[in-house]
Amino acid sequence: MLWANKIAEELIETYPNEETFVCAAGVTPSGDISLNSLREAVITDIIRQALELKGKQAKTLFSWDDYDLFRREPDELSTPFSEYNNLPYSEIPDPEGCHATYVEHFESAFESVLSNLNIHPTYIYQHEKYLSGEYTADIREALKKRREIYDIIAPMKNRFFSESDRESYYPVHIYCRSCGKETMEKVTYHEVGDYIEYTCACGYREFAALEGFNHMKLIWEVDWAMRWRHEGVTFEPGGPEHSAEFGSYQISSAIADQIFGIRPPYYLPYASVSSDSAFSLSDESSRKEALSKMATADPSEGIHIAIK
Ligand SMILES: [Zn+2]
Ligand SMILES: [Zn+2]
Repeated sequence: MLWANKIAEELIETYPNEETFVCAAGVTPSGDISLNSLREAVITDIIRQALELKGKQAKTLFSWDDYDLFRREPDELSTPFSEYNNLPYSEIPDPEGCHATYVEHFESAFESVLSNLNIHPTYIYQHEKYLSGEYTADIREALKKRREIYDIIAPMKNRFFSESDRESYYPVHIYCRSCGKETMEKVTYHEVGDYIEYTCACGYREFAALEGFNHMKLIWEVDWAMRWRHEGVTFEPGGPEHSAEFGSYQISSAIADQIFGIRPPYYLPYASVSSDSAFSLSDESSRKEALSKMATADPSEGIHIAIK
């Protein structure tokens, strides 16, 4: 594929000393598989293959953003799920009762489609990473630089700048140790002693050492930039929602550069690959048809559908 070859060449030129090229994709398992998510995984793996064909070592990472905040009811859920709002996705039960959790239900369906397409990435489950404390040092760094992060984010998100807004700004979601929800009323990080202090709407208050607390995650744009550094990502595609002016790729890139001191990865907005897609994502019946074809198609046909 010409476009993939061209990107692989540009990557090799940009990172001449890279030992292993990390091609990353990531999706929040919020509901049934979307064609966009599949496209993301397929494109990423095609670039991995193009790099390998040029004699480079490369791997595909697929991150499940399953420690994100659950904030809505996807259309396909029949039971009311609003009681789980503000919990992390990883703490919500399976709407159909066949898996241990909500995310396992949707993740396993997606992973079996990828496997049918002969795509076998290294899966990363973000709730496991966050809960294990693997990102604590990165979170601490972001908390210490929270004012600088505010200075990057506030103008890009059109947030009205004020000194008090800046002082109370924390680029994290904290999940209350008592009710489990991100319904924080007040958060403070005490740099001296490395303590986190919060008051939740449920009435619970806690003063806890940051080390070992683990029930928190960085807000999306900071989280994305942090993981580029943590995982050494060199290539990542992104959907239209991330690609707009002042969208999350642009914000995360500024954070990667100015806060985490790294070059953001080569970014491919999908639209440049899929603008003439035969399947309109808004058309439910053709979306379903495309997905069922992908689940059963021979791999090359399925991949053709995904990036058409
Ligand atoms: Zn299930
Ligand atoms: Zn609470």
